[in-house]
Amino acid sequence: MPRNHNIAELRRLDIAHHLPAQADWAEIEALGGSRIITHAEGCYIHDGDGHRILDAMAGLWCVNVGYGREELVEAAAAQMRELPFYNTFFKTATPPTVTLAAKIASLTQNRLPHIFFNASGSEANDTVFRMVRHYWKLKGEPKRTVFISRWNAYHGSTVAGVSLGGMKAMHAQGDLPIPGVEHVRQPYAYGEGQGMTEEEFCDACVAAIEDKILEVGPEYCAAFIGEPVQGAGGVIIPPKGYWPKVEAVARKYGLLVVADEVICGFGRTGQMWGHETMGFTPDLMPMAKGLSSGYLPISATAVASHVVDVLKTGGDFVHGFTYSGHPVAAAVALRNIEIIEREGLVERTGSVTGPYLAKALATLNDHPLVGETRSVGLLGAVEIVADKATRARFGGAEGTAGPMARDACIANGLMVRGIRDSLVMCPPLIITTEQIDEVVAIIRKSLDEVMPKLRAL
Ligand SMILES: *Cc1c(COP(=O)(O)O)cnc(C)c1O
Repeated sequence: MPRNHNIAELRRLDIAHHLPAQADWAEIEALGGSRIITHAEGCYIHDGDGHRILDAMAGLWCVNVGYGREELVEAAAAQMRELPFYNTFFKTATPPTVTLAAKIASLTQNRLPHIFFNASGSEANDTVFRMVRHYWKLKGEPKRTVFISRWNAYHGSTVAGVSLGGMKAMHAQGDLPIPGVEHVRQPYAYGEGQGMTEEEFCDACVAAIEDKILEVGPEYCAAFIGEPVQGAGGVIIPPKGYWPKVEAVARKYGLLVVADEVICGFGRTGQMWGHETMGFTPDLMPMAKGLSSGYLPISATAVASHVVDVLKTGGDFVHGFTYSGHPVAAAVALRNIEIIEREGLVERTGSVTGPYLAKALATLNDHPLVGETRSVGLLGAVEIVADKATRARFGGAEGTAGPMARDACIANGLMVRGIRDSLVMCPPLIITTEQIDEVVAIIRKSLDEVMPKLRAL
C-alpha cells in the first residue's frame, strides 16, 4: 500500500528547496509546486492529488518493463546485502558488472563486445567523446577531432552531451557547443521536407553531411554521431534508406560511426537496437534508459574491437566514474534484461504492439488538428497543425499547440510529452493493445478540447 504523504507540505518544500531538472522554476512556483508522483504499477503512475495517469512516456523514455517489478527490487536488495559498492579503478571488478558486460556484448552479437560503464546517458556520450579523440591520437591522426552531429539531436545535458546535441536553447546556456562539434540538418521530413519526395529529402540530408565533412576537411573529422531515431527532438524518424547512406558517407571519409541508443536500445523500435531497425552498424554505442528500465541509474558505452585494440596501445585510459559499473545497478540491469527476454518484449514490440500503435495513431489522421502521425516500434508522435495543406502552426510559430495539448492529455489521465507542436509518446514495452486504444482515445478527446482555444489564437 502506498504511504501517506503530506502533499501540501511536499509542494511547499519543493518550491522552497528543490530545483527540478529541465524546468522553469518560476513557472513551477506559480503553479504551487511540482506534481508529486507517489507510486506506480504497470503502465500507471499516481500523483498526490489522487490522479491515476496512464504513463505513455515510460517515466522518461526508460521504464520499459513497467513499474512495480518485485524481482528488480529483490535483485537490488540481494546485491546490496552482498556488496553494495565497489569501484573498477583499482584493477578490480564485481560479479554483476562483468556478467552484465558479457550480456550486453552478446546482445550485439559480439559486434561491439567491449563495455565501459557510466551512470547516465550523458556520461555515456562523454565517454564516447574522450574515447574517439583519444583513439585518433593513438592511431596517428591527431587532427581528427571534429564530431558531426545533427541540429535538434539530444545527447545529454553535460558539457559534452549538450555540445554533441543540437538543441539551440541548450547551447545558449553555458556558451556551448565547445569547439569541434559541427551540426547538420536533421532528417525531419514533416517539418523540413515539404515539397520533396521521401527519396529527395533523404538525399538532401545525406548530402548535407557530406558537404559538412568536405567543408571541415575529412582529415579533421573524427566521428558522426546520431540517435537512430531522434527521441527528445520530437520522435524524428528518418526517411527510408537514410542511415545506410549516412554510414556509407561517414565510412568514405574514414569517420567512426556512433549510434546513441540511449532511447532506441533494448527493444524500443521493435528490434533489440535502433541501428538494427535502421540498417547500419556503429563502432561505438552509448546506451542507458532501457538498460535498467530506470530502476537504478546505469549506462554503458559499447565499443568495437578495432577501436579498443587501438586504445589498448595507450596505457591508462584516464577516464571513468566512481559509479562506473556499480554492482547494484548492474545486478538490476541484468535482471531487467532477463525480464525483457523472458517476456519476449522486443518481439512483441516488433510484431504486435508496435504495428498496433501505428494503426491506432493513424485513426487520428481524420482529426482537423492532426497533420501527421508517425511511429516506429513503441515510439510515436502526433503533429498538430493549424492548416493541414500548408502545415502552418498555431500562433504563427512552433511551440504553442504541443504544450497546450499535452496539458489537456495529462488532465485527462494520459502522460505524454509536448515537443514543439507534437505530442510524443514512448510507453512501457508491456503496454497492451487495449491501453494503446486508451492512449489514442484520450489524445482525440484532448485535441477536441483544445481545438476552440487554438482556433481563437
Ligand atoms: C536521455 C538521453 C541522453 C541522456 O541521458 P541522461 O541519463 O539523461 O544523461 C542521451 N542521449 C539520448 C538519445 C537520450 O535520449
